[in-house]
Amino acid sequence: MEKKNIDWSNLGFAYQKTDYRYVSNYKNGAWDEGELTTDDTITMSECAGVLQYAQTVFEGLKAYTTEDGRTVMFRPDLNASRLVDSAKRLEIPAFPEDKFIEAVAKTVKANEGFVPPYGTGATLYVRPYIFGSSPVIGVKPAEEYQFRVFTTPVGPYFKGGAKPITIKVSDYDRAAPNGTGHIKAGLNYAMSLHAIVTAHEEGFDENMYLDAGSRTYVEETGGANFLFVTKDGKVVTPKSDSILPSITRRSLVYVAKEYLGLEVEERKVAFDEVKDFAECGLCGTAAVISPVGKIYDHGKEICFPSGMDEMGPITKKLYETLTGIQMGRIEAPEGWLYEIK
Ligand SMILES: *Cc1c(COP(=O)(O)O)cnc(C)c1O
Repeated sequence: MEKKNIDWSNLGFAYQKTDYRYVSNYKNGAWDEGELTTDDTITMSECAGVLQYAQTVFEGLKAYTTEDGRTVMFRPDLNASRLVDSAKRLEIPAFPEDKFIEAVAKTVKANEGFVPPYGTGATLYVRPYIFGSSPVIGVKPAEEYQFRVFTTPVGPYFKGGAKPITIKVSDYDRAAPNGTGHIKAGLNYAMSLHAIVTAHEEGFDENMYLDAGSRTYVEETGGANFLFVTKDGKVVTPKSDSILPSITRRSLVYVAKEYLGLEVEERKVAFDEVKDFAECGLCGTAAVISPVGKIYDHGKEICFPSGMDEMGPITKKLYETLTGIQMGRIEAPEGWLYEIK
């Protein structure tokens, strides 16, 4: 398919309408066949469950072009199963995992002209989501739902190299113990908006959230998991029931162990030990890893030895290996790249 005339390298991270989206509706206890449509609008009851009680869950993944010209998605099976977990927690009917893969693949295929060429750093961001569409006024789950997938081309996350960011320890909490921190739900983001706007106003790039129960352990940021490196080269990543199981983080842990031969600890990380780490990064689909140079904690600063100019050496190795796997320059583990044909 002919590529659209887009200035790929200068795209930002903003919504841009593409030609097709996928829609499937849930009614009378079952999902329908589903189909592609050109209609980018949704008409529903003013009293829809999603509008009144935020009954919605989502996913985020990307499609892109590998070095040898294939259009692929990265581990969409994990997005499919995570969406099932998220849906169950909000009493939303699960969307079948095989149908999910089919739906995202169809949507990407239909919009192939928007999949950025190799080497531009841009990708086609894919956003699957489910929401309660029927009227709900007494508090209960909706009876009808819509599953939808749209795509939007997004630019390289780092323009001109990955610069380390500065984050602050937030006074707000992201997720309660036994709450919804482990699922990908819009409600977790709605309540983080005030915290991130405040952090930005104060000059910080992101928030570090601590566990809401004791405020002593590191959780994550608003939309990315933490990865630390110890002074003796071990990779450490926080374990908690209230952080979102990032697919990027899980992939980096595998890469650290199996490709780089590094020792990895997935365990509770006390905020008190953060000052002793050598490197820090945030992992998520958008950036893969954003290096953190500095953490501000109520008047005190933690400055990582890797500094504010570039990624730490191990973070960089992890970043280069995983992006190499994603782009087809390094052999991927079985099943990591899903080719769109
Ligand atoms: C989506 C998300 C991440 C990153 O997950 P990936 O699967 O790596 O994109 C991390 N934290 C939160 C809260 C998220 O919503």
